[in-house]
Amino acid sequence: MNNAFINAKKQIDNAVPLLKEDYRENLQFKKAIRLLKKHQKIIRKTLKVKTDNGKIRKFLAYRAQHNNARGPFKGGIRFHPQVSEDEVKALSVWMSIKCGVVGIPFGGAKGGIVVDPKEISLGELKSLCQEYSRQFSSYIGPWVDIPAPDVNTGEQEMAWMLEAYERKLGIQSSATFTGKPLSLGGSLGRNDATGLGGVYILSEYLKTKQPRKRKIEIAIQGFGNVGFTFAKYAIKSGCNVICISDSSGGLLNPKGINIEKLSAMKSKYGYFCNIPKIKGYRLITNNVLLELKVDVLVPAALENVLTKNVARNTNAKLIIEMANGPTMPEADEIFESRGIEVLPDVLCNSGGVTVSYFEWVQNLSGYSWNLKRVNDELRDVLNRAFMEIYEMKRKKNISFRKSAYILSLKRIIDAMIIRGRA
Ligand code: NAD
Repeated sequence: MNNAFINAKKQIDNAVPLLKEDYRENLQFKKAIRLLKKHQKIIRKTLKVKTDNGKIRKFLAYRAQHNNARGPFKGGIRFHPQVSEDEVKALSVWMSIKCGVVGIPFGGAKGGIVVDPKEISLGELKSLCQEYSRQFSSYIGPWVDIPAPDVNTGEQEMAWMLEAYERKLGIQSSATFTGKPLSLGGSLGRNDATGLGGVYILSEYLKTKQPRKRKIEIAIQGFGNVGFTFAKYAIKSGCNVICISDSSGGLLNPKGINIEKLSAMKSKYGYFCNIPKIKGYRLITNNVLLELKVDVLVPAALENVLTKNVARNTNAKLIIEMANGPTMPEADEIFESRGIEVLPDVLCNSGGVTVSYFEWVQNLSGYSWNLKRVNDELRDVLNRAFMEIYEMKRKKNISFRKSAYILSLKRIIDAMIIRGRA
């Protein structure tokens, strides 16, 4: 079953037996779990945008607001042709879990537009962003729901959305969006936060293992913000990234890739498959990448790429989930039975939302932090989350994912019960 929302609900169900023992008031617990498998609100809109040739084109758009027991809703906006209601629903559940894992006072939300941004002009993209912001303006705000970038969106899209939102409401409200450009109140360190956070988690994980004599070998799927940044900091920390891919395939160099060189080539040629042969590098498919013999495999592109088949054939010893929802539940069981550890998305990629939280705090307090403060506080938050999850995993002899879900769900359920929602 290839439905991310069904997978997200299954992940909640998997944690239930382990959570039950903490709740004597079983009825409240049962109600909380029932509520957590639903959404508080799902907003659907059809956005109308005037194209460059004067015609009106319609785009489906969503915002799923999952749970705000611990604070305002928070979550990115994805632009992709495969965006669907179930996808944003799943992603919003994972946002709730993620905020609980790192203990930041937000709930989960996610938005999306069914569009391939590469197929529309820059002017049309700007109009689409403005229209999304206007149409959803009554559902967002610094104390309501705070959007951010996701796949195919970034600083520019957030800037257009902020401008449209502020014009519509006639106020200044930079804390409504995070992932903004620095000039509009963005935070230092936000661009690198997700990838850097993943490398902090990898470093903490390695501290729990025997020191190795050789460099850790890593293969990464995805060369967007997350894949690129993870690679950059992993190399900086002394790891050997031997392969990285975009949607057209992976470039493999057993001696280690040169990330800056590949970035320059990708900018010039568009896709890895179009880059002329580079000495020492081989072009491979994304399927081959997922089965490479490496220490660490890092899915950093889209969800559901680690299927049952991939799980059977993977030769990695550790999976670091940097994309949201890359592992299907059946694959998770196979990884567990094969002794391959999976560090879950809700922990590994939570650096992005953590620095988004710092950005929101800075906007609301009108005071900017320097980069050292951002990165130090990020490391503190993530290291604490890792240790809490690791201790629980050892105590209960369960997977990292189950441990993360238990910790987070407990925080959310406690907030729901004390508010009287459950
Ligand atoms: P992005 O749009 O910058 O990059 C996506 C990358 O995936 C691109 O390199 C693209 O070529 C590649 N890709 C697309 N389809 C592919 C396919 N079929 N096979 C292989 N590669 C493919 O997106 P991003 O911001 O890097 O996000 C990547 C993942 O990380 C997503 O799951 C996103 O939800 C998650 N994430 C992102 C952030 C963030 O701060 N950007 C935070 C948390 C989680």
